[in-house]
Amino acid sequence: MNPYPHLFAPLDLGFCTLPNRVLMGSMHTGLEDHARDFGKLAEYFAERARGGVGLMVTGGFSPNLEGWLKPFSSRLSSRWQVAPHRRITSAVHAAGGRICLQILHAGRYGYHPFSVAPSRIRSPITPFTPRALGERGIERTIRAFARCAKLAREAGYDGVEIMGSEGYLINEFLAERSNLRGDRWGGTAENRMRFPEEIVHRSREAVGGDFIIIYRLSMLDLVERAQAWNDIVSLARRIEAAGASMINTGIGWHEARVPTIVTSVPRAAFTWVTRRMKEHVRIPLITTNRINMPDVAERILAQGDADMVSMARPLLADPQWPDKARAGRGDRINTCIACNQACLDHVFENKRASCLVNPRACHETELVITAATRKQRCAVVGAGPAGLAAACTLAERGHAVTLYESADEIGGQFNLAKRIPGKEEFAETLRYFAQRLAELRVDIHLRTSAGAAILREQKFDAVVVATGILPRNPRIPGQDHPKVRGYVEVVSGKTAIGARAAIIGAGGIGFDVAEFLTQAPPSPTTDIARWSREWGVDTTLAHRGGIVAPQVEASPREVWLLQRTPGKPGKRLNKTTGWVHRAALKAKGVTMLGGVTYEKIDDAGLHITLDGQPQTLAVDDVIICAGQEPNRTLADELIASGLNVHVVGGADVAAELDAKRAIAQATRLAATL
Ligand code: NAP
Ligand code: SF4
Repeated sequence: MNPYPHLFAPLDLGFCTLPNRVLMGSMHTGLEDHARDFGKLAEYFAERARGGVGLMVTGGFSPNLEGWLKPFSSRLSSRWQVAPHRRITSAVHAAGGRICLQILHAGRYGYHPFSVAPSRIRSPITPFTPRALGERGIERTIRAFARCAKLAREAGYDGVEIMGSEGYLINEFLAERSNLRGDRWGGTAENRMRFPEEIVHRSREAVGGDFIIIYRLSMLDLVERAQAWNDIVSLARRIEAAGASMINTGIGWHEARVPTIVTSVPRAAFTWVTRRMKEHVRIPLITTNRINMPDVAERILAQGDADMVSMARPLLADPQWPDKARAGRGDRINTCIACNQACLDHVFENKRASCLVNPRACHETELVITAATRKQRCAVVGAGPAGLAAACTLAERGHAVTLYESADEIGGQFNLAKRIPGKEEFAETLRYFAQRLAELRVDIHLRTSAGAAILREQKFDAVVVATGILPRNPRIPGQDHPKVRGYVEVVSGKTAIGARAAIIGAGGIGFDVAEFLTQAPPSPTTDIARWSREWGVDTTLAHRGGIVAPQVEASPREVWLLQRTPGKPGKRLNKTTGWVHRAALKAKGVTMLGGVTYEKIDDAGLHITLDGQPQTLAVDDVIICAGQEPNRTLADELIASGLNVHVVGGADVAAELDAKRAIAQATRLAATL
């Protein structure tokens, strides 16, 4: 019996029927920008088509040069650009899939000097002031959208998605904050809707009736001076009348200060808004944001909140997501943990996207896992992310793998991460690896510190050392005082922390510990209403943009987060998630200080010097989060004894201790052994 009957019910669009309700939403990968990469893009999509997804949407292609996201980025505006796209569409169709091209005009978010907008107002997140489009420019832009849709059809796409949300050009026309026009394209809500309505109408005329047009509608702008809910409903009706086949849900402008997709956002945190739209339109509605597992998707559809669910990152993480769900094997899904580390962060750094939990994503033609030509006996020492990835990949290739772990459970640092409020998703990765290890019959030895003697005695053909890290010793006078704690004992709950705490070190782990100390359980990530209140999301939809003043719950303790480097802590956190951590701690009243010199720790607390002035922080606890050193003892011993040794993860480079690097490095190594 199908465990997810709503998720796998076909969706009839009149002229075509989608096999299920799973949409792989649009996501830029960096492979769209050059036709020379379309072979890789084709295989990326084909692999997901083979995995059973109902419909996919490409990353955004601009309909003209002004709509570029950045100079020379993806564009489909001329007939000569059509042919390379056929590689993508043919590969997808050969794999039994369907794909739409997303048309995205960046508007004032364009990172180049030719950007345009309804009015000459710079966005808070781009350095370029856009040129205001004139009447003729608007007409040309509408024609460019329609032409792009027509070219997409010629390229073999099954449809297009017109990007009308996230604060890009179309969305800019719809909001007072970015549209100050007094002509027929601005001034009233009615006038502001003319631009998207015309785009959909003319695109439909250009492509005919039997071609999918998805319109991505901003249902919650999450910025001030934005759309009122009644106007959004009117727009949806007009878009339907103009010929859209489906409406997708857009949540939040890029300049919004409410997180919408990071891991601390509760699962399905915004489907309620799609639900509110359901009674106003007849065409299918797609909902999105933080839907990553089949039970969540099924519940949304069964409740009637939407007709289809969009998941971009979860399909990056696991191309077989739909087939695994259909088979009732949700436990086999490699779940997207919404970390953004290898996908969105890469795109914002102009690097090719990938996935922290699946380094093959966007590298399908390069990182190929094949059966080993000679079966070997391999040992992997350490069951953190690097060791787990190595063990699974080696076993998948047919090697006989023995995995040693000194702790009584697999997971390494992920066992700490999953205890941080807002990072509970990390437990899914451990569930996935545990399941894979069992399925691949990896011989696991927990509570076993495999020393050189055992490894030599067992005569392994290869040993992968993934022994991870050791916390750095900061060598501060008084650090052996009873009020000093390591982050491991704090996060693992082995010690109670008092009402005032200082954290030494403001890297990723210092920030995590600060969240751990300032968030009273249970984590708001498990409660959409509570989380929405904390971030000021207006679930009544009475306020423009869907935002109200946040109601932050008080921290159970006073916390100082410190670093020696001058400047504000948190600057080196990841691009798309760092601001969320900084904002969350600021809201909880954490004192974040840079340029600190640690003098000593004693009964009075932590003595520091700041701006040349001595100060005493009268804290009950001092928690050391001063970074890591590689745990290389075993590796060095084995190398010295002449064994075939490979060192991966934190044991190799602790300075960059991060799971993305660890999993990718271990997988790549194991693919070649
Ligand atoms: P980190 O990002 O390298 O930060 C180390 C912090 O310690 C810095 O703020 C540094 O600031 C301070 N520090 C360094 N040497 C010190 C010394 N001798 N005395 C006092 N302070 C010192 O390391 P991390 O926070 O351990 O995170 C490492 C990586 O783990 C991150 O890049 C992140 O990707 C990943 N991460 C892992 C987890 C997890 O759960 N395992 C969680 C979050 C992040 P100053 O030098 O300015 O004082
Ligand atoms: Fe999801 Fe992180 Fe992978 Fe991106 S990198 S797809 S957020 S798990």
